[in-house]
Parts: sequence; C-alpha cells; structure tokens
Amino acid sequence: MIGLETHIELKTKSKMFCACSADYSGREPNTHVCPVCLGLPGTLPIPNKTAIEWCIKIALSLNCNVSNISKFDRKNYFYPDLPKGYQISQYDEPFGLAGWIQLKDKRIRIRRVHMEEDTAKLTHQFGTQNSKLKTQNFSLIDFNRSGVPLVEIVTEPDFENAGEVTEYLQKLQQIVRYLDVSNADMEKGDMRLEPNISLAVSEQGLAVGNKSQQPKAKSQLPPYKVEVKNINSFRFVAKAIEEEIVRQSEILDKGETPLQETRGWDENKNTTVSQRTKEEAHDYRYFPEPDIPPIRFADSQISNIKSQIPELPDSKRERFVREYAIPVYDAEILVRERSDADYFEQTVKDGKKHNLTPKQVANYIINKKPNIEKTVPAELVELILVTQETKELDKEELEHAIELVLEENPKAVEDYKKGKTQVLGFLIGKVRTLLPPNSSSEGIRELIEQSLK
Ligand code: ZN
Ligand code: MN
Repeated sequence: MIGLETHIELKTKSKMFCACSADYSGREPNTHVCPVCLGLPGTLPIPNKTAIEWCIKIALSLNCNVSNISKFDRKNYFYPDLPKGYQISQYDEPFGLAGWIQLKDKRIRIRRVHMEEDTAKLTHQFGTQNSKLKTQNFSLIDFNRSGVPLVEIVTEPDFENAGEVTEYLQKLQQIVRYLDVSNADMEKGDMRLEPNISLAVSEQGLAVGNKSQQPKAKSQLPPYKVEVKNINSFRFVAKAIEEEIVRQSEILDKGETPLQETRGWDENKNTTVSQRTKEEAHDYRYFPEPDIPPIRFADSQISNIKSQIPELPDSKRERFVREYAIPVYDAEILVRERSDADYFEQTVKDGKKHNLTPKQVANYIINKKPNIEKTVPAELVELILVTQETKELDKEELEHAIELVLEENPKAVEDYKKGKTQVLGFLIGKVRTLLPPNSSSEGIRELIEQSLK
C-alpha cells in the first residue's frame, strides 16, 4: 500500500506571509528576507490572497470539496531551517478535502490539499577545509526560501506500485502547469515527493508479492508505515518504492514487522536509509494560529475561483478526439502542454482554408516537433503544405525504386511468394538505398506488398 505526499511551490510574486519576493531561484543567499520570514519576535504574518486562491484552484481541479470556513494552524517542531520554531500550516480544516485524480485504470483518492509555508534551505558541508571556521563540519542556512507558499497534496494509500505513482505525478504536474500556478520544475525543487510504503500481509503470513496473493480486505492497513522523505525526481521516487518493497518483504518473510520510521533516499547508494523513527501528529502540538483569524468564503467567491479554471488535460484530450477525429494517442501527446494544445488548435483553424485536416496537422506537430515559439501557426500551415507536395513526388520515385529492386532480386521475390515473408525486410532495405538519405520510409512496406500480389 502506497500513499504520497507532494509539496508544490507556488509561483506567486511575494511570499506567503510577507512582502518579500518569492522569486528566489539562483539568487544570492539571504537577500530575499525580512523580519517576518526570518521569524524575528514581534512580527505578524499577513496571508497572501493570491496564494490562497491558487491553493483553492488546485483543490477544485483535483475534485476536492472546498468548505466555506478554513483556518491556519501552527505545526511545532525544532529545526534550524524553521526560525519561528513552528511552521504555519493547516491541520483539521484544510482548504481542500476528499478529491481524486483519475488514472488510466483506477482512481487515486486525494485526502487533503492544504496551504503552508516553505522552510529555509540548509546546506551541509562535511569535512570542508576553511581557515575562518574552526569546525570542519558545518551547515549554511539560506532564508530566501523561508515563507514561500507551499501547497501540500496528500493521497489515500491507493497506489499498488511505482508505475501508478509515476502516472499520478505526471498528471498532477500537468494540472498545476495548466493552472499556471507553479512551474512544477523538479530540478529546481518546485515539487518534492514523500511516498509512504507498507506491505499488507496475507493470511498465510507472507508478504504480498504478487496480485494473486493480494488480501481481499483492502481496508485492513498494515501495522506500520515507512515514509521516504524529500525526493526530488519522479525516477527516484519510483526507485525508492521498488527498493522499499524488496526491503520490507525480506523483513516480513522472516516473520518480523518493519519499523515505523522515516527514511531518506540515498542517491549514490541507490537505496533508502533510516533517518528517524516517525513522529505522530501529536508530537507537532498543532494549535490554531492565533495571529491569523479563520478565513470565511462566500459561495460566490469559491464559484468565482472555479470559473477561472481552464479546460484541464483530460477534458481537452477527450474534446480533441471528439472534435478533430484524431486518435487518443495523438491527443494525449498534444495536450501534455497547454501551449502545444493551443498551437495545434490554431494551426487547424488556419489550415482549414487550405483543406488541411486536423490529422495532418497532428502528424506534423508530433513527428517533426516544430519550434512553436519561432514558427507561428500560419507559417506551419505553409510548411505542412510544402511537405504534402514533395510527398507526391516521393511516391513516384518510390514506386520506381521498388520496381527496380524487384527486378534485380528475383530470388527474394520467389521466396516471398513461397511464403517467406521475412524477405520483406531485405527488400525494404534495398529500396531505401535507392532513395534520398532523409526520405521517410512511410508506406514502403505496403507498396512492396502491393507490387508482389
Ligand atoms: Zn519576508
Ligand atoms: Mn508539509
């Protein structure tokens, strides 16, 4: 059973509770700071309205219920990256509750979507020689990230393998990019992932290794949970899950129960390593944030936010298939990024008067991957028309080449007629050598087959 917590940094202009710029990527450390985000005594937080609206936008897009009343809470813990000694987060009244994301074969339930602030960034220096610092091991703190708006999305433990988690993450990333609320750039740490993994034990007491052994009572949660912290790539999250399944199976097969703990992903060793035993919610001593009053929304405010949500990838894909009669596969590629989808639609519109079909436009965009920033849709229409023309010429040339090859290779032709269809590959190769180096191989097989009938 696998659940996932995802932290997504919003790309608002300012931070969550102060006026500092939230655009800190690549900036000189500790230059985007003020008394509020440095946690100095006596400062007061002022919530960022846009960040809250964006959090609700995400919640609504993930099919969550958004209640009319919500509030912030303090999550207390002591760590150098948290200057106030607590993080302003949401505990029992998050902005979004009980949503879902639809994967190809199953629905992943979303438990909650809440708003919080990011921590400062710690850089640990081990064994560094520095004449000014006596100690060899030290940590540096950059407060530029402290207080940047962060949305946390928590799923129910509905995943059964790493593949489903990857599919979910791709969808989630697409959705927040469509909403234009986060760059969701993994390299920059805009999205941080924390899977929790535990194995259900079948009645025979064996770790569940395959589908046939899956216990029927799915609601029966295993008596432990292992969380892997702060992973910053889709590939690593998949690897960490696969590693954990192996590690926990081995422990369970010995008749023992894995420890309830937090582990980290060690990129170099390609494995998870124990960090600390997992804390419970009561360890954080949550209580309502006294400096921010509860937030009340009128229904009209929520429906206003809802009305700003653009057409999302799933509906866009379905519409493309319906409206343009293109295959689902093509539509899926075209809607991956909103800018590509818009580009496709505009090109179809511009190509109409030249009798270009949506399928021709889709083929060109998918196969030739034009630079959509440099080629405007009208220019692309011209390009597609030119290719269509050269294709006609290609066909004549191609038929001629096939004729020649068949004449020169009577043995292969004979073999083919006797049923040795594998000689087709040989003939295709021969035909290719007679064509210009970059010509497409589309239709060669079909034409040879036709000529041999
Ligand atoms: Zn600040
Ligand atoms: Mn969090």
